Amino acid sequence: MHSQAPRQQASAKFATAAEALHTVFGYDSFRGEQAQIIDQLIGGGDAVVLMPTGGGKSLCYQIPSLVREGTGIVVSPLIALMQDQVDALTAVGVRAAFLNSSQDAATRNQVERDYVAGALDLLYVAPERLSSESTKQFLARGTIALFAIDEAHCVSQWGHDFRPDYLALSELADRWPDVPRIALTATATDATHKEITSRLQLEKAKHFVASFDRPNIQYRIVNKAEPRKQLLSFIKTEHPDDAGIVYALSRKSVEATAEFLQASGLNALPYHAGLDANVRARNQARFLREDGVIIVATIAFGMGIDKPDVRFVAHIDLPKSVEGYYQETGRAGRDGLPSAAWLTYGLQDVVQQRRMIDESPGDLAHRRKLSAHLDAMLALCETVDCRRVNLLRYFGQSSAPCGNCDTCLTPPEAWDGTVPAQKLLSTIVRLHRERNQRFGAGHLVDILRGKTTPRVTQHGHDQLATWSIGADLSDHQWRGVVRQLLAQGLIVTQGEYGTLALTDAAAEVLAGRRSVDLRHEPERPERAERPARRTGAAKKAGAADLSPAQGELFEALRAWRSAEAREQGVPAYIVFGDATLVAVAAAKPASLADLDGISGIGAKKLDSYGEKLLAVVADAS
Ligand code: ADP
Ligand code: ZN
Repeated sequence: MHSQAPRQQASAKFATAAEALHTVFGYDSFRGEQAQIIDQLIGGGDAVVLMPTGGGKSLCYQIPSLVREGTGIVVSPLIALMQDQVDALTAVGVRAAFLNSSQDAATRNQVERDYVAGALDLLYVAPERLSSESTKQFLARGTIALFAIDEAHCVSQWGHDFRPDYLALSELADRWPDVPRIALTATATDATHKEITSRLQLEKAKHFVASFDRPNIQYRIVNKAEPRKQLLSFIKTEHPDDAGIVYALSRKSVEATAEFLQASGLNALPYHAGLDANVRARNQARFLREDGVIIVATIAFGMGIDKPDVRFVAHIDLPKSVEGYYQETGRAGRDGLPSAAWLTYGLQDVVQQRRMIDESPGDLAHRRKLSAHLDAMLALCETVDCRRVNLLRYFGQSSAPCGNCDTCLTPPEAWDGTVPAQKLLSTIVRLHRERNQRFGAGHLVDILRGKTTPRVTQHGHDQLATWSIGADLSDHQWRGVVRQLLAQGLIVTQGEYGTLALTDAAAEVLAGRRSVDLRHEPERPERAERPARRTGAAKKAGAADLSPAQGELFEALRAWRSAEAREQGVPAYIVFGDATLVAVAAAKPASLADLDGISGIGAKKLDSYGEKLLAVVADAS
């Protein structure tokens, strides 16, 4: 169905936003501030929208484009995904097309003619095109309903997604002062927000900052022991047939992990910048189109992936910032159904990242910034309070304990770790008296536990006053102490070997003026932490409420959807989302009238698929 041509019957513009929402998208009500944002644009004003992934940003510019005269121009850096976005719109009867470098001249000309003739509601354009004068002249020949600047944080020079072409987008304001503009991003920090506003000349815009909470995502952070095995057991026990994303820091680790999962019988594919572009595109397409594919990726994967049924996002290495972590985990559960964000991290992650920061190019201010990012991430990992409260506080939003994260579900026990902390700190002080010696955490723990290793003997460390004073804690517990002191900023690692050194705050602890609370370290890090496990078909949908019979119907609907999507060459979710299929399975409709009103079934989809859905329901009963 990869047709670029607009529908035969030119769709009329809609009188109201509510009518477009209902007729085109099949939804009953707006979410959050969608209605206000849409009104602002329909009235000709500008908007800056900060909304988490899955919050429903697309409707904020799609609906005004269906109401206002002319074509909505959507600037998006995600060329690879434009086809899917256009297919999804075409599937609901919206006249949409895109212009980017992947097209041949004939296709491009056709799209241009359609635009000038007023036959498009939405036109997706790559940012580099918009910076060229010829594109602007071409746009001036048609009527522009609005400009939507998606992934607007790409204009921020300090962010990791900076795209120089985005800077030129400020010219849109000069050239088309009367056309409303909307900038959208899922990046929530104040600094990014300000930069978007000033660089895109959006000083007069209305600002909409949504709650960044994603209540359907369960946040869990576990201690790292054997990360691949832990990951495998997490997937096999909780997400055996689900689509998911696994993030790792290096290409090597991506490949090894993908191979490991494949060898264990899972449908896992690698994705990183070092792979051949064709392989990468193929793996991404399989992830989007097939059910239950796991992609193992570096952070190069995921921006703008709007697959709604990703059921888990796993990190097997510590992310570099809370911001990045939240964006990556936000790719789970866009459809609002229960999903998991699972992270495993250990002492080695801290050592490795400190080293990377020390060695990173750039000035001191830049390294300080990286360091602050890492500290915030560590504080999240080691918190004894609700993960979500901690996450949202990072974005300046306050909330109550969520009941859907590991610390809420199984509160970690805290214990007074002042004495072990003092033992560790004073050992570090003693080792520091030996010039030019580099001792990492492992050696420190050996000294505290009184282990006679060749290194200990060679340096005479069995003569130290702290030798063997920590035999009451296990290796594992000591490593936990080191990690938590790092996270609390009492010690830092330095240099290539991760040598430990004290911070100023440590003096207070050594002097007995400050106590240290530590989190209890479970001896078996991979504890099953989920309260209730669902099984079978209903679990897969994340739909706990389906009866066994409804679960079977849901499976039948899913199978039909796969076949339908394959035939059309589009991702399954473009046919229907899981949430819609769950609603159909629950309602067991017997007529087209029963289908009308189910969320996600608008006029066009009722027309295309109504009879087919009824046939699947009838067959399954
Ligand atoms: P974002 O771009 O903010 O990540 P999307 O625009 O992709 O989010 O929306 C996420 C999902 O929520 C999509 O499946 C979309 O169809 C759905 N959605 C958005 N707005 C509504 C609404 N008002 N009612 C029901 N579903 C909605
Ligand atoms: Zn919580």
